[in-house]
Amino acid sequence: MADYRIAPLSRLIEQFERLPGIGYKSAERLAYHVLGLSDEEVRKFSDAILEAHEKIHTCKVCCNLTDRELCPICANPARNHAVICAVENPRDVIAMERTREYDGTYHVLHGAISPLNGVGPDQLRIKELLARVKDGSVHEVIMATNPTVEGEATAMYLSRLLKPLGVKVTRLAYGIPVGGDLEYADEVTLSRALEGRNEL
Ligand SMILES: [Zn+2]
Repeated sequence: MADYRIAPLSRLIEQFERLPGIGYKSAERLAYHVLGLSDEEVRKFSDAILEAHEKIHTCKVCCNLTDRELCPICANPARNHAVICAVENPRDVIAMERTREYDGTYHVLHGAISPLNGVGPDQLRIKELLARVKDGSVHEVIMATNPTVEGEATAMYLSRLLKPLGVKVTRLAYGIPVGGDLEYADEVTLSRALEGRNEL
């Protein structure tokens, strides 16, 4: 039987299908949508992907994403640089910032320890966090990893490494549903979790 598929279209569908939350049907719809765009619109779209990928890297202090050497939070002298809030991903920083309650800095781990998914401590930005604490100017590290098995394991692992360095280690109080994601917690819940944090 002859193959009537158009190879470049199949490749485009395949790329869309690799995106999170996109199944074959949606990928197909997006691919046909792209085919209907003008050359100029397609160029803008592909340039935006290339530019974001080229220019965005991690902040050399907190490992959050930025297009500068230091992210705006690390570069801001009005923030309290003696307090670090350790989170799993850049979206959690945005969630914490929405509370407008927190004036410290962050450390983005880029994941949580998960032996089942093959993620060990070496794949996270833990070295960078320890280096910040070792320089002596940090008083408190708030563990704001998700209230999941992986998030808890990561918080415990980090607190064992941090406490001998003489820093106060706290954990967000609950109120965030267990198994939930920090980034989906509303501002009020997250503010309370921050206020009621306990020492680990
Ligand atoms: Zn930063």
